[in-house]
Amino acid sequence: MDNDKKIGMFLGLAIGDALGAPLEFKAAPPSDKFLKKFTTGGVHNVSIGEWTDDTSMALAMAKSLIEKQSFDADDIMQKFCNWYLKGEYSTRGRCFDIGGTVAVALRSYSKTLDSDEYLHPYRGRTSKDTSGNGALMRMAPVIMIAKNSSHAVQLATQQTMLTHGSNLCIQYSIMLAEELYKGSTLAKYDNYKLPLDINTNDVMSGGFVKETYEAAWWAFSTTDSFEDCIIKAVNRGHDADTTGAVAGMIAGRFYGHENIPQYFKENLMWYKELLKTAKELSQTVFN
Ligand SMILES: [Mg+2]
Repeated sequence: MDNDKKIGMFLGLAIGDALGAPLEFKAAPPSDKFLKKFTTGGVHNVSIGEWTDDTSMALAMAKSLIEKQSFDADDIMQKFCNWYLKGEYSTRGRCFDIGGTVAVALRSYSKTLDSDEYLHPYRGRTSKDTSGNGALMRMAPVIMIAKNSSHAVQLATQQTMLTHGSNLCIQYSIMLAEELYKGSTLAKYDNYKLPLDINTNDVMSGGFVKETYEAAWWAFSTTDSFEDCIIKAVNRGHDADTTGAVAGMIAGRFYGHENIPQYFKENLMWYKELLKTAKELSQTVFN
């Protein structure tokens, strides 16, 4: 994968997150009122180009992968806790958006940090009702450093199980990892995609991992540019920022950083910092 595609995947995640953030928890707008540019407001009262937990967690993981030059599960969980408890990797210096399943996992891990005993960092619960999209949304960094497709699957599984241990979460993470690595859909996963002629109103965009995966691929497969893909994705409302983050990863991976419109780069909060991290990660030689 060339570096421009890797960087596009990482920045695409952040841009999709920021575009969708004002629409989080809202009903999908009608097509003549589609949100096409960054705006303010929403449940988190975001600023222009401000991103949320999806990007904060991806950034924390990217920093760990760069520092350690390997997948160090304890270090990643430590950095996730630094975000959750101390507000690192956040535009506001505090964590203002977190999914329930992630919060349970990080609280569980943080309690063990002072323990003398070693307690492993894989805190994802396994029950089916914890099949949220919180691991799918931060996938880009591990795909950027994967050496081949099976390595991408291995790393995707590991990063998922830190906070999400259900079979569905792992299954959808594996599918997205293989497809992001390749840069397109894989025929063996056709049955997990929506029909492209589906009525738009039937495309669900909630917090369930299956919905996020389906909506993101539907948005990508029915558009021809980075911006059209993320616009289509976030305007399904509800978990708009995370659907946007996943669609942005897919589209950024496919079209590359150079084909992301300048508007979205200029107005994304922390753009320079995120770009620097993405460049460093794309050049990291992984042990
Ligand atoms: Mg979010």
